[in-house]
Amino acid sequence: MIKNSCYTCTAYHDDFDCSLRKQYLADVIREDEFKILLEIHGELKRAEKKHGPMLSTAHGAFVVCQKADELARAVAAEKSDGLNDDIREEAVQVGAMALRFLKDLGGQR
Ligand SMILES: [Zn+2]
Repeated sequence: MIKNSCYTCTAYHDDFDCSLRKQYLADVIREDEFKILLEIHGELKRAEKKHGPMLSTAHGAFVVCQKADELARAVAAEKSDGLNDDIREEAVQVGAMALRFLKDLGGQR
């Protein structure tokens, strides 16, 4: 199997195998933040299996806003000011769709 050139260190291995990258992530991303990012990434992968790519910025913005609207509705339905499972799930989906927007529509710099 041909490995890609690593985005972080330019060696020929997958980005996920890069020790420099792992060290960087460990140094700058807190454990609680990393867990949330993994949750959002898992949702991104589920969405990618289920739906085709975002086709335009207008389509992508619509999808992100639709998820943000669902988050706002979950918050409005909550009696107390807590972050219940429904709200958390909707917030993860907003994050995943924002990631997808950048990924599908050329967000790499
Ligand atoms: Zn590397």
